[in-house]
Amino acid sequence: MKIIMLGAPGAGKGTQAKKIAAKYNIPHISTGDIFRANIKNGTELGKKAKTYMDQGLLVPDELVVDLVVDRVNQEDCKDGYVLDGFPRTIPQAEALDKALGDMGQKMDYAIDVNVPDENIVRRMSGRRACVGCGATYHLVYAPTKEEGICDVCGKELILRDDDKPETVQKRLNVYHEQTQPLIDYYAKAGILREVDGTIDIEDVFKAVTDILGA
Ligand code: ADP
Ligand code: ADP
Ligand code: ZN
Repeated sequence: MKIIMLGAPGAGKGTQAKKIAAKYNIPHISTGDIFRANIKNGTELGKKAKTYMDQGLLVPDELVVDLVVDRVNQEDCKDGYVLDGFPRTIPQAEALDKALGDMGQKMDYAIDVNVPDENIVRRMSGRRACVGCGATYHLVYAPTKEEGICDVCGKELILRDDDKPETVQKRLNVYHEQTQPLIDYYAKAGILREVDGTIDIEDVFKAVTDILGA
């Protein structure tokens, strides 16, 4: 099963993608996580990506597309995968379709996690990320067992630089301009499914599994 998660920054794509990956036993591919790992390791790609990410802008398509196409061609992706944060522009979606088409494959679902902008700004201020493993929490909606400490690896939690309110507003504008058109793109392709992202995490996941099947 090949799935794309769509939605504004902070809509809950990553949260749901991780649950999908665990339940259906397929890889979770997050381009944001890949960039953050590259920044942490000081790679050339990381250095390039960081200048855009810090400003709340998208990393240029040419730095993203080949990376994802190479990733989905790996052995562990043969039974499917869930893409989180990619595609984010129409050219990225077209490049993905072309790469899949060349392999005689196609996407199965694009799931749009729908959350209004007002909720997003509030939600992002409570998001916390682990400096060690990148796991994501929320102060109120997805708290850790021990405050400020990652449940998975025990390292400390931080507010991502790009989750500060000024940058969140910028990212929302970028989302509406460059990413939202993908909703129409996948509706036309007949694979768009919508879920309400404002309800509890488990209820959103129930809606997702109703779409994907048991
Ligand atoms: P969020 O989880 O809040 O939606 P991500 O972790 O997916 O954010 O992405 C963080 C940043 O990484 C984005 O603001 C953007 O700068 C960059 N990025 C991630 N994926 C892409 C992509 N497919 N195309 C361009 N930039 C991307
Ligand atoms: P995205 O990957 O779309 O940027 P995340 O999955 O990182 O979004 O979620 C953003 C923040 O909101 C995180 O702190 C997460 O714990 C929290 N969150 C995710 N889904 C929900 C939900 N349904 N209700 C409340 N908070 C949520
Ligand atoms: Zn951790």
